Amino acid sequence: MKNNFDKIIFITGGAGFIGSNLLKYLVPKYPNYKFINIDKLTYAGNLNNLKSIEDYENYEFIKQDIENTEAVLTLFKKFNPDGIFNLAAESHVDRSISNPLEFLHTNILGTASLLEGVRHSNKLIRFHHVSTDEVYGSLGESGFFTEETAYNPNSPYSASKASSDHLVRAYGETYGIDYVITNCSNNYGPYQFPEKLIPLCILNIMSDKPIPIYGNGEYTRDWLYVVDHIEALDKVYHESDSKQTYNIGGWNEYTNIELVKILCSTIDSKIGKPNGSSGKLINFVKDRPGHDKRYAIDASKIRDDLGWQPRFSFKDGIEATIEWYLNNKDWLENVINQEYLEYYKNQYKK
Ligand code: NAD
Repeated sequence: MKNNFDKIIFITGGAGFIGSNLLKYLVPKYPNYKFINIDKLTYAGNLNNLKSIEDYENYEFIKQDIENTEAVLTLFKKFNPDGIFNLAAESHVDRSISNPLEFLHTNILGTASLLEGVRHSNKLIRFHHVSTDEVYGSLGESGFFTEETAYNPNSPYSASKASSDHLVRAYGETYGIDYVITNCSNNYGPYQFPEKLIPLCILNIMSDKPIPIYGNGEYTRDWLYVVDHIEALDKVYHESDSKQTYNIGGWNEYTNIELVKILCSTIDSKIGKPNGSSGKLINFVKDRPGHDKRYAIDASKIRDDLGWQPRFSFKDGIEATIEWYLNNKDWLENVINQEYLEYYKNQYKK
């Protein structure tokens, strides 16, 4: 299938947080490419995220579990893609602790299905695998993850992502497939499911509910605005040499407690509460097992090789994110009530 498009690109997990932001960036930018969004529509996949592009001629949605190798191979035969951004994943660490097998199925076997499609294709497909800095494990007080840091995952989620990274690399070495891997830090921005720290805090501050913080709140993360991330993905996909790995980070380290206090005071001032008064909602809860102390990314390789640096300061990114959630209460309500799951059931009955 080619029609009048120069390239066919699969985006897996395109109904999720990063995938939907990526599609809304790529679809209008590359009218000569056809984008096929392949998504199983788990609780984290939400087609409401994609309303602004659903009628574009160069966009198509296909509901499919990537773990189903036979069905995936059929999609490869039907569309004969030129490239793939693989974002489909179970992505929430807490869920991986209570239900690890689902993570192994999607993140490892799902990636393997796609790699099989790439391996059996009659053309050289660029396979861009989107992964996480969590594969590197935990840092102490100082230092940064570089592309040379040894893998040392500590949660079922990060172990499953690490496995998928290894598989991608192994298919590259064994079968000569053209791959790139990016490992990024914690993303934040519009359309993120409110189980992740930033949207959960925003939601709870807006609704005056306790803000759960693990342990003493001293865990440190690097924060990357999703718009910066997708611009980096676009750049790596188009400009990177084959078989490269890039770390993508925001150079923005905060402890969880620092971050939550920033959110409290910024939101308070926007919704007319006394500044910082939402701090009373902070509720320290029992730590999660295997919790990594600190992640920090050295993103100098992507800067030096490809000229990418984050454009947004943390202040601007977080302001824009908070504004988005305040202005999109319907989206939030819908997600919280899981109404969209009902919608899917009606739309895509088997
Ligand atoms: P998300 O949970 O918001 O979305 C995941 C999407 O994958 C959903 O649309 C879901 O329906 C789909 N999916 C899940 N299982 C599937 C399956 N078996 N077949 C097809 N589709 C399936 O995730 P996200 O935050 O957008 O993350 C996207 C990618 O980026 C993931 O691979 C994740 O590991 C990686 N990543 C995310 C972050 C972050 O901070 N969000 C950081 C580093 C890396």
